[in-house]
Amino acid sequence: MSTTETRRFAAEVDQVLHLVTHALYSHKEIFLRELASNASDACDKLRFESIARPELLGDDPDLRIEVEYDAEARTVTIRDSGIGMSRDEVVENIGTIARSGTKRFLESLSGDARADSRLIGQFGVGFYSAFVVAERVVLRTRRAGAPEAEGVRWESTGSGEYTIADEVLPRRGTEVVLHLKPDESEFLSGWRLRSLVSKYSDHIGFPIRMRREEDGKPAADWETVNHASALWTRPKSELKDDDYQGFYKNLSHDFQDAAAWTHNRVEGNQGYTLLLYVPAKAPWDAMFSGREERRGLKLYIRRVFIMDASEQLLPAYLRFVRGVVDSDDLPLNVSREILQENRLVSQIRAACTKRTLDLLDRIAADDKDKYAGLWKEFGNVLKEGIAEDHGNRERIAKLLRFASTKGDGAAQTVSLDDYVARMAPGQEAIYFVTADSFAAAKGSPQIEALVARGVEVLLLSDRIDEWMSSYLSTYGGKPLQHVGKGEIGLDKLGPAPDAAEREAAEKAGAPLVERIKGLLGDRVSDVRASRRLTESPACLVLDRGDMAMHMQRLLKQAGHAVDAAKPVLEVNLAHPLLKRFDAEADDARAGDLALVLLEQALLAEGGQLEDPAAYVRRVNALLAA
Ligand code: ADP
Repeated sequence: MSTTETRRFAAEVDQVLHLVTHALYSHKEIFLRELASNASDACDKLRFESIARPELLGDDPDLRIEVEYDAEARTVTIRDSGIGMSRDEVVENIGTIARSGTKRFLESLSGDARADSRLIGQFGVGFYSAFVVAERVVLRTRRAGAPEAEGVRWESTGSGEYTIADEVLPRRGTEVVLHLKPDESEFLSGWRLRSLVSKYSDHIGFPIRMRREEDGKPAADWETVNHASALWTRPKSELKDDDYQGFYKNLSHDFQDAAAWTHNRVEGNQGYTLLLYVPAKAPWDAMFSGREERRGLKLYIRRVFIMDASEQLLPAYLRFVRGVVDSDDLPLNVSREILQENRLVSQIRAACTKRTLDLLDRIAADDKDKYAGLWKEFGNVLKEGIAEDHGNRERIAKLLRFASTKGDGAAQTVSLDDYVARMAPGQEAIYFVTADSFAAAKGSPQIEALVARGVEVLLLSDRIDEWMSSYLSTYGGKPLQHVGKGEIGLDKLGPAPDAAEREAAEKAGAPLVERIKGLLGDRVSDVRASRRLTESPACLVLDRGDMAMHMQRLLKQAGHAVDAAKPVLEVNLAHPLLKRFDAEADDARAGDLALVLLEQALLAEGGQLEDPAAYVRRVNALLAA
């Protein structure tokens, strides 16, 4: 029976391969980083499994990676003494892309090679990067503990098919042989390969060995060419920014430098080390796959890699953080379930949260531009923390940035501290309005009276804002008040210049308000004379606890049954349109006028009319009158 089989790649592998070879072209040297990182993962896995089954190491306890080249054969080889793969595992891991987010990942690509190469790097298509420089790849592998006869040889040119065959392999682990494309000869150089290892893989925790060079040719003996110690275990004083950045890129597959990091050794009732990074750009998976599939924080226990434990060690709203946690005290046989309820783990999680918030605080204080960039990337994710992390709400609130009537256009640059520092005399609340766009928020009739008095209003228009703001009821002891909901307490802001006049006008206008109420019937819950308006004829107002109108619309569009709160119509008695009612004896025409007021208020909200044609008819009739 022949053991050689030819198989087709799963469809999405074909797609990814195609993309990778094109988009990564300008970063082609990262193949070495990716393959070395796979080799390092394989060594990590074996180290972990060998704790329970030391026999897996056989008579070769050395975990190492080797990189060599052969100028004549035009090959570069990356070899490890790690866990290796069985035949089924090769088919499973190399022939398909098991990761569940692949489809969404492919959809998120823009076709812009630069942007896509970043995403591809982060997505970690690792192994396939080999095909950027190789026309043919041969992978030989044997699972640790399996007999020599159970070696596997896999080969492909990366176009649609691969072959897989049994082969006797004396060594465990994996070897990847790249048969370079004709114009990739630059990698057939000891010097070039060494400089790539030190650029990208210096901080891999296992020795990477290359053959010593003699007269520009590889000699027989090996030497270690990387630093080969876990970076986070080294004293901070010894580490340079470049070291941290290099390690970050390895960890995150990012092409860009991290924005900032925090590195701490904690001793006390338990000991652990944290090294946490905030990326400069949102990692693909944190933003696209959302809260379910979080990755990026690696848990080590006494230097042994255990698992990716982002979910256990970081709250969802910090899912953009990348890093390493190394614990002295957790048991090596820890499982996800144990992590879930372990007391030591919850302390580490609290520390990760605190350190990350400290780091963000520091950037916000020291480098406003940098923080503005981060806010653009992660602001909406951070906002989830307001709802999610009650204990840190005030700290997270401090990190929020908003557009505002006194800010810089639509840019979200105003902090709650900025706001509080310039509150008007007598002002007790922090005012904000939510809408489905910046323009709608800025144009909200509800904010007119405040703006006219020089009071600042925060303009919230991200989808998450309505939800978030329902959890953010105070900051620094000051209530947050939605300008379109409930009473806004204008009187406390000092008497308006025309207070007496207005009171008289309200009294005089009471019958008109009653008349409009009668005309609109149960379309609204009430009609009132407004103190919020100065320019618009009318606006819609909700009760304090009600969901904003634009949010009700969003939910309805998404197919949810919404128990819509009926708004109050507030009218501006000083507006000429309202004056017109006095002159209108005809009840049908007055009814039209009242409806137009209501419909315009709804339009100003960004809402949609049930019968736009009828609205146009009514307006035209009034215009023509
Ligand atoms: P990733 O490393 O992000 O999972 P890759 O495409 O690089 O993606 O690798 C796919 C899988 O193939 C890995 O998850 C691993 O299970 C397996 N693999 C790759 N390289 C090796 C190796 N050197 N030793 C053992 N397994 C490997």
